[in-house]
Amino acid sequence: SGKFWIGGNWKSNGTAESVSKLVDELNSGTVPSNTEVIVSPTFLQIPYVSQNLDQTKFAVSAQNCWVEGYGAYTGEISAEALADAGLNWVILGHSERRALNEESNELVADKTKKALDTGLSVIACIGETLEQRESGEMFNVLDAQLAAIADKVSDWSKIVVAYEPVWAIGTGVVATPDQAQEVHAYLRKWFADKVSADVSKSIRVVYGGSVNAENCAELATKEDVDGFLVGGASLKGPDFLVIANAFE
Ligand code: 13P
Repeated sequence: SGKFWIGGNWKSNGTAESVSKLVDELNSGTVPSNTEVIVSPTFLQIPYVSQNLDQTKFAVSAQNCWVEGYGAYTGEISAEALADAGLNWVILGHSERRALNEESNELVADKTKKALDTGLSVIACIGETLEQRESGEMFNVLDAQLAAIADKVSDWSKIVVAYEPVWAIGTGVVATPDQAQEVHAYLRKWFADKVSADVSKSIRVVYGGSVNAENCAELATKEDVDGFLVGGASLKGPDFLVIANAFE
């Protein structure tokens, strides 16, 4: 399914000093030709990172955008503004935004459509909580998250799906390679059933949740794991470079 894909989600982290150091560390590393690598700083750091990161090796993504265009939306940033700033990527539907900013499946789907219509590629995040997994609701939750997007979007060629189980995010409790493979295979079958065989084959499904330099290699051996979306470990240049090279 195309190139492997590695994203670093810096979340709401980084000072001018730490970001400058991280950019220098990343620029000193190498990325294999079979892998696409993206980093996602805060909005404020995007201009610095875009100007200083070696974009022959890394692309830059935003972590969110608004559902409407330019206009009277105080505090929001539109997909058009991201494109105007030269970005090609945006993360949407991260579980932290779903939980802390009360983003619904429908809003995430509307934002996804808006971003695609604006020419951006989208990292669409889905995932279940521990309670949903333990009560047997996991597949229903994932179905609903994807179905909301499928209702609004027909072209999946510019979407990467990030499966990020909430219980694995920032907890140090990484999904086992078998747990990740089980869900990724399920998602690929969902695409085969609900969208098309072509999309099922070509779409990249990446795993996120406590991925680090030590556990990435074994996760990368799984057939349906096409990459990673990395939080904490993406703030450490040497560690993120190890992860970026996990599929070499
Ligand atoms: P951690 O890698 O810190 O668990 O975060 C994962 C994540 O939320 C990436 O979007």
